[in-house]
Amino acid sequence: MITAPSGCGKGTLRRRLLASDPDIVFCPSVTTRPPRPGEQDGVDYFFLSREEFVSMRDRQELIEWASVYGNLYGTPGKPIEEALSRGLDVILEKDVQGARTLRSVYPEGVFIFVLPPSREELRKRILGRGTETEEERRLRLDCAEMEMSDLSAYDYVIINSDIDRATERLSAIVAGERARSKRRTAHGG
Ligand code: 5GP
Repeated sequence: MITAPSGCGKGTLRRRLLASDPDIVFCPSVTTRPPRPGEQDGVDYFFLSREEFVSMRDRQELIEWASVYGNLYGTPGKPIEEALSRGLDVILEKDVQGARTLRSVYPEGVFIFVLPPSREELRKRILGRGTETEEERRLRLDCAEMEMSDLSAYDYVIINSDIDRATERLSAIVAGERARSKRRTAHGG
């Protein structure tokens, strides 16, 4: 489970991890936010209308959902359960509130927070992005500050100052956690 403020490169990290590890699948969220250039439906997110989102939610198909920056985001439960039952590891990207709910649903999950190299760099990345309005960018920056203020609920923190090193660290965490759970199984808990 990866959380990172906007502009910290979690999408890039996720794509790199997926490319290097066939035993991990990404389960995209559903969202009512319009796609950004380059984003693909079913790959980055499932892009839904508000009506479609609300009816999924009302059918109890979402493990959790939240309103973030004025759009709705949610976690469909079925794809996660299907992947886990096939023995795959699942990667999810959520905000802090989503991570908190998922921790209660999957207490064995591994929760990773990705940090920008500095607050100044984060400002540059968020405010320099051309895909949102000025107001949205300000809101994202404020939320990022808030999200970074409490990292105690996370198992790992990765500082993304260099994407190659950050990817290496993420892979190392995955490898370490796999070894740990095997050891637990081997020793009966
Ligand atoms: P973005 O619009 O930049 O892709 O995502 C905005 C925020 O919503 C990010 O912090 C992202 O992690 C979070 N997010 C994405 N999907 C979900 C979800 O299913 N549930 C929750 N609670 N947050 C999500």
